[in-house]
Amino acid sequence: MANNLIEIKNLYVEYNTKKGIFGLEQTVHAVNGVSLDVQKGEILAIAGESGCGKSTLAKAIMMLVKSSKGSICLDDVDILNLSKQYDLKEYYKKVQMIFQNPYSSLNPKMKIGELLREPLEINTNLSKAEIDKIIEEKILKVGLDKNCLDLYPHEFSGGQRQRIAIARSLVLNPEFIIADEPVSALDVSIQAQIINLLKQLKNDFNLTFLFISHDLSVIKYLSDRIAIMYLGEIVEIGKTEEIFNNPRHPYTKALLSAVPEINGVKSERIALKGELPSPENLPQGCKFHTRCPYVMEQCKVEVPADIEFSETHKCRCFLYK
Ligand code: SF4
Repeated sequence: MANNLIEIKNLYVEYNTKKGIFGLEQTVHAVNGVSLDVQKGEILAIAGESGCGKSTLAKAIMMLVKSSKGSICLDDVDILNLSKQYDLKEYYKKVQMIFQNPYSSLNPKMKIGELLREPLEINTNLSKAEIDKIIEEKILKVGLDKNCLDLYPHEFSGGQRQRIAIARSLVLNPEFIIADEPVSALDVSIQAQIINLLKQLKNDFNLTFLFISHDLSVIKYLSDRIAIMYLGEIVEIGKTEEIFNNPRHPYTKALLSAVPEINGVKSERIALKGELPSPENLPQGCKFHTRCPYVMEQCKVEVPADIEFSETHKCRCFLYK
């Protein structure tokens, strides 16, 4: 579709790991057939429990982990087929990532000025004066002072470090930013400031965001659409109001029930039985059947297909067949 910036089709990420005292090799099925479009100018949120595959999906889009199967197209070019270093450089000019932990994502031995210069020196042929101008502009844009450029990361608070990480993600003027739990490592008092900063930057630079979070209150405030992920699959996707006003998948309902109040109505907590199954031993049939309050015999053996409720809202569950 012309309005899509990113188109992901049938993406799988699998890798082998050794587990247990005998070091037996097992395959981790982290992303299992994800198909997803991100439209230009939108904030698409991905929600789900820790371990559901959302960060692995983000890393696959950033080419930080290898995808086993499928395609990831940016402006109709499949990035999984990019082979030359030149192509990857061009890709990273357009796509950047903000990580969860600003303490580990910034090299403690480099001054902030050096940290912001580095992507420009690696990926462009700009002069020193041109680079200086860009990094000063971006550090001001995230609400910090030019004097910061001469300091080291340890001289800043967590919120300031995340602002620096955001400035670093902006220096190449990307079109698309993946923000992986960008506020979950920060004090609650700082979180709202960073969320509002991201919203402001999206408008100022006409950015498109993939926003990954387990915090549905933040997602509701920030996102245009929401994809719900469970064991490496998108089980429901829709506009933010469709997901919050009319959730369909039992897993989505359980997740939303953890939000204390939705649209002025207090939520009644739906407790899911059991733990999230391990991605090394995926359940047969519907992957949610081991925890679903509505499980039927069919769910244990057959995989449900997507059911559409509107042009923008769909979920995979036999309850709506
Ligand atoms: Fe629950 Fe069955 Fe729907 Fe899966 S397909 S979510 S197990 S009712």
